Amino acid sequence: MSFDVFDLNPAILKALASTGYTQPTPIQQQAIPAAIEGRDLLASAQTGTGKTAAFMLPSLHRIAIPSASKSRGPRVLVLTPTRELAAQVNDAARKYGKFLRARTVSIVGGMPYPVQNKQLSQPVDILVATPGRLIDHMERGRIDFSRLEVLVLDEADRMLDMGFIDDVEHIAAATPSHRQTLLFSATLDGTIGNLAQKLLKNPQRIEIATARTRHGQITQKLHFADDQIHKRKLLQHILADTTMRQAIVFTATKRDADALAEDLHALGHQVAALHGDMTQGARTRTLPRLRHGDIRVLVATDVAARGIDVNGITHVINFDLPKVAEDYVHRIGRTGRAGNSGTAISFASHADRRHLHGIERLTGQKLRAEVIPGLEPRQPAPKPAFGDKPRPRPTSRRGSDKRRGGDHWAAVRATSGPQRNRHS
Ligand code: AMP
Repeated sequence: MSFDVFDLNPAILKALASTGYTQPTPIQQQAIPAAIEGRDLLASAQTGTGKTAAFMLPSLHRIAIPSASKSRGPRVLVLTPTRELAAQVNDAARKYGKFLRARTVSIVGGMPYPVQNKQLSQPVDILVATPGRLIDHMERGRIDFSRLEVLVLDEADRMLDMGFIDDVEHIAAATPSHRQTLLFSATLDGTIGNLAQKLLKNPQRIEIATARTRHGQITQKLHFADDQIHKRKLLQHILADTTMRQAIVFTATKRDADALAEDLHALGHQVAALHGDMTQGARTRTLPRLRHGDIRVLVATDVAARGIDVNGITHVINFDLPKVAEDYVHRIGRTGRAGNSGTAISFASHADRRHLHGIERLTGQKLRAEVIPGLEPRQPAPKPAFGDKPRPRPTSRRGSDKRRGGDHWAAVRATSGPQRNRHS
């Protein structure tokens, strides 16, 4: 199937041709025709599947026809949980809409008000915003939603997790009731169902993949670690693998992210930190550096890394496990993007076992503990839960690792020697 079947505006098809996409992804195949028809959407799709284009292409198609309204307010509003995701949606709108001359504005926290006031005083077609800052501007009377046609809620589950439910409802209530609403979320359960009932009219429900079926392109590994020192040695070992192109390392706190980034820098790695305490300017500068390969290792916290879309990320390393199992799914979705394969490696202590079980229950996948010779944990890995018997490693494993770009574990076995607990 090619994009031509959707009958999209030729200016959008021309922009798509220059992206090199050959065919629509499954979420695009389902969402685009339904949205062009004017249907509301309640869609769940894994991160990295092309969901941004799934809502942006039909939205651009709609605004390719000039509005009859004299108002200068936005015709499409996209709400995102984080500044980084807003920046990426903004980039996507510019990329797919480059031959339409659509005016796109991004309004996020951490940026100076005067610049945003100026942007909002001019005509806007697409407004991409985080809820808190948008409400600030609404309260100051700076936004006119009278000609709004499409409201998109991107990563709606995350917006609810972050406590934005009242803000989202408040914003939706300020928009015309005849608008089209497109809701995208990693899960469609629980409170998302309640929100959907309030905001969507007879939506088409699209479920491409749930947490249980996702991430077939990501190899997931687990290492038990005794303590922080052991974790650092494991990390050093993994980062020493030259086939590892780029990694995001997740820590539990902002302070840990800074400390680990500093240590890795001292060890000679091209590294940067990304977390919510950094200025918006510093956060914004980090992503292009990552995208251009100037940063090999990004040490990040959950919120800051949400939505990072960099196709070169080959590894996600959970230096600390996430507190919430859903965040595990979001974290590992930073690798294996746009058809690439990826590796997600988690470090866990024995005290983390309850967390691990939560993650395994959510993903429906057992995380098998591996050891690096010379860096084994003092306490052996616990017996597998859920009656899952350990399987011997398939002999083809090395071959498949090679196909992914190098037999890292064989290299580890060759260089690490047989001693136990060398790290302690
Ligand atoms: P998203 O799920 O929107 O974050 O998109 C993930 C990545 O897939 C982005 O880098 C997009 O540029 C890319 N992408 C989106 N649609 C397609 C497509 N039809 N074919 C190939 N890559 C795509």
